[in-house]
Order: sequence, then structure tokens, then C-alpha cells
Amino acid sequence: MQLLPTFDLILFGGTGDLAMRKLLPALYRRVACGQISSDSRIIGAARGELTLEEYVAQVRESCQEHVGAEFDEATWSAFAERLSYTKIDAKQEGDFVRLSDILRGREECVRVFFLSTAPDLFAPICEHLARHGLVTPQSRVVLEKPLGHDRASSAEINRRVGAIFEEQQIFRIDHYLGKEPVQNLLALRFGNTLFEPLWRRGRVQHVQITVAEDIGVERRADFYDRTGALRDMVQNHLLQLLCIIAMEPPATSDPDAMRDEKLKVLRALRPLVGRDVLTKTVRGQYKAGAAKGQPVVGYLEEKGVPPDSTTETFVALKVEIDSWRWAGVPFYLRTGKRLQERLSEIVVTFEDVPHSIYDRPDTAHALNRLVIQLQPDECITMTVLAKSPGDGMHLKPVNLSLDFSETFKTRTLDAYERLLTDIVRGNLTLFMRRDELDAAWQWIDPIREAWQRYDERPKIYTAGTWGPAAASALIGRDGFAWRNEI
Ligand code: NAP
Repeated sequence: MQLLPTFDLILFGGTGDLAMRKLLPALYRRVACGQISSDSRIIGAARGELTLEEYVAQVRESCQEHVGAEFDEATWSAFAERLSYTKIDAKQEGDFVRLSDILRGREECVRVFFLSTAPDLFAPICEHLARHGLVTPQSRVVLEKPLGHDRASSAEINRRVGAIFEEQQIFRIDHYLGKEPVQNLLALRFGNTLFEPLWRRGRVQHVQITVAEDIGVERRADFYDRTGALRDMVQNHLLQLLCIIAMEPPATSDPDAMRDEKLKVLRALRPLVGRDVLTKTVRGQYKAGAAKGQPVVGYLEEKGVPPDSTTETFVALKVEIDSWRWAGVPFYLRTGKRLQERLSEIVVTFEDVPHSIYDRPDTAHALNRLVIQLQPDECITMTVLAKSPGDGMHLKPVNLSLDFSETFKTRTLDAYERLLTDIVRGNLTLFMRRDELDAAWQWIDPIREAWQRYDERPKIYTAGTWGPAAASALIGRDGFAWRNEI
């Protein structure tokens, strides 16, 4: 494991949910691997008046919970030595003097400003950092999603942050890109010759991308109700996954070569505008039902949700890409809360054989499928037909599985571990460029506008199901079915 360059990581929002559940445990794990030098520092920052002891105790508790059985006292001591806390209110210019004192004399080392706060604080924090002379050539700023709520607000944040940091210093996180199976999908596509001839119209019948959550809005009701599934999930995670599937092979592994190709996909998405939106999208909202065998309330009864809210907790879309490679191949995307299972997967279904000479299952079960599962398990499975043992030539589907932890006998990196090490190294490959983000919003905004113009209300689905029946009809009209419905 290669040692990272010495860094100071200033974690704005260092007491928040994301920091405690994901970021600090990911850093702990990198300390456990010996990748973080003893003179690197992790500096939590938030408005709370916490002593160092209080902060360290909070972080310890969350690392114990989220690192689980791998937590040990020796690693914890090494991690705690690198940890500190400073009180900063992002809106108080004066509070940044304290940060200046902490960072003085460390101008040569890598400086990471990780903004794990609400997006309305991104620009003010960057502007305060600049006014206090804290932005060095070795600095990077990390922006968590959501980056604005539409194209205009996202452009405004990017403009203000871009006035202070160079584009190659800005790391816009989409943690789905850091997941091991997404990395492996790239390896599969661009490290082998096998798939390239099949990866196109004429060979691929259709593609499905599902990001299903079994949880409700939890503690995020206020944020979620202002956002909805389209902006919370499709604008970033689902479109990024679609780009990874649909992009052309980049000429090199250079970050911009990869990001150029993703941008081309976003620009080739057929716009969904006007009445077309009503036939190619489905909005849904969950009502009371069950989750893991227990009764759960509907979205409108969730604490913090207005009782007359029309925010969608589910969305399904049919997406088309106007390019030589993908013309005529539909991509079906769906995501939602309080669905039957926690499941994130990409399913590439290939065309049927032109003529069958054997006894085989019905077409839906006979097709070759490549399933890239991101959650709950990280694995890639290819379904092929094989002869069933015994007399006669009866074909049955079998799975060829690539189980990473089984094959490599090692723990795979969590997405945030990978992304944090890439940030310190300055590798931008897995981060969204400004023009990509802009292109994604440009495609998303007209969908919301059409929903508003035609007063498209969400269709109600029962919590614990796979969403509204209209989502099955959306894909069913083309003669296909979601994988869980086959
Ligand atoms: P959170 O639990 O509400 O935490 C927010 C953090 O920001 C707290 O540490 C809070 O501490 C601090 N903060 C609030 N106002 C501040 C101010 N004026 N100056 C300095 N610090 C301030 O939020 P979160 O869930 O961690 O999410 C953080 C960001 O990541 C959000 O943009 C969210 O959308 C995004 N995100 C979160 C998740 C997730 O799983 N949680 C996933 C993806 C993206 P004080 O109140 O003490 O200041």
C-alpha cells in the first residue's frame, strides 16, 4: 500500500452524519492500512463548542460502530493522534483566523478542504478561505452532493468556487463512482476484448439501472421534501452510472479523457421535454405499508413532511441516447425510497439468438444478461444458457459470477476510502467536472418543468413494494420487464 503524501484535511461538517458514518471511518481504515503518515492531520470543523476530548470521544464511538470487528486500540491511538477539532461557523469570517493559525507553516503539504455541509455554505467557505490566504497551490476543495437544486443554482456555486480554486483543484463527489463494481465495470469494458464487439445496438437489447432503497426519508425530511428523487438520485448517481455504461473507450486513463467521454454521453441524451415527459417518466410517492415485516408510515405522515406534499419518492424513466452506438437501445432508470429491497444494480440484457435449435426456457429467462450489482453485495454476474444435466438437450440459465472478495481474498475498499485517497493524490478521474454537472442539470431541469406545467402528481405506491404499477407499464410497453419482475 503506497504511503500518501503528508496532508492536512479540514473536514467542514466534521460532526455531521456523513462525516461520522462514512468519512472518518474511511480515514480510520486508511490509517489501519498504514497509508496515512504520522505527520498528516485530520481537523474536524463545525459550529459546536467541543473540546478535543469531546470530539475524539464522538469520533471513537462512530468508528467503533461503523468499522465493526476491524476496530482495534492500536489503530485507534494512531488515528486519534492525527485528529483535532476547531470551532468554525462558516458564516463568521472571524472564525477563519483560528484555522489560519492551525495551518500556518504547513503551506507545502497537501491541503484538503472537505465541505461536508449544506451546499449554500460551499461558496461562503471558499471565499473566507481565500480572504485568509489559506488556498495554496497544493489545496483541493471537495464538494458533496447536492451541488445546487437546478442548473442555475449549480452554475452559481461553480462560478463562485471556480473564482477561487482552479478546476483541477475541485473534487465534486459522486460516491457511486468510487464503488468497486463500477471500477470493475471499467476494467471489464476497457481491459478485455470480450465485451467491446457486443457493447452496442444490435447486440444489447436494453439496459436497466435500479437504485432502490428500503428506508424512508429518515432524518432528512426537510431536505428531501425540497429535493425529490429526480434531483437527489437521478441527476447524479443514475446518470453517472449510465455514462459509465454508455461512454466510448477513452484514449487514455487520464482523468479528462474519461470525463470527456462521459460528457459526450450526457450531451447525447435525447431531451425529455413537454408532453413526452408524461409518457417516458413515472413519479411516485409511498403510502403506509411494511418494511422488513414491520408497519411503516407513508411519506405524508413522516415527521417534517408537509401533509399535502407532492414531492416524488420514486421515479422511473425511459432514456434514449442519440449516438451511433446506442441509437434504438432503451435505458430504463428507476430509483425510490421504501421499496421492497435495498438493491443497486445495472443490468445489460443482450439480444436473443437469431434461431434456436434447442429446448430452452421462455425468452425472458433465456437471454444473456450482465448484472453489475453495487448493493447489497458487490459482484458481477453473467447469465448464460448451459445444458442441464441428464438426458436430452435442455438448456437452463446459469450464472458465471465474479465475486471480488472471494476471488482476491481481500477486503475491497469502501467508496469513500478510494475517493479520499484519490483526493489526496490529486487524481480527478472519479470526480465530476463542471461541464458534466452542467450537462446533467440541463437534461434534468425540463423534466421537472414539464411535471409542473402539466400538474403531474406522483402515483401512490405501498411502502415495501417495487413502486407504482405505472413503472412496470413503462418498461412493459416495450415488451420488457424489470429484472425482479421476470
Ligand atoms: P448533517 O448531519 O446535517 O451535518 C451538517 C454538518 O455541518 C454538521 O457538522 C454541522 O455542525 C455543520 N454545520 C452546519 N452549519 C454550519 C455552519 N454554518 N458552519 C459550519 N458548520 C456547519 O448533514 P450530513 O448528512 O452530514 O450532510 C452533509 C452534506 O453531505 C450535505 O450537503 C448532504 O446533502 C451531503 N450528503 C450527505 C449524505 C449522508 O449520507 N448523510 C450522503 C450524500 C451527501 P454544527 O451544526 O455543529 O455546525
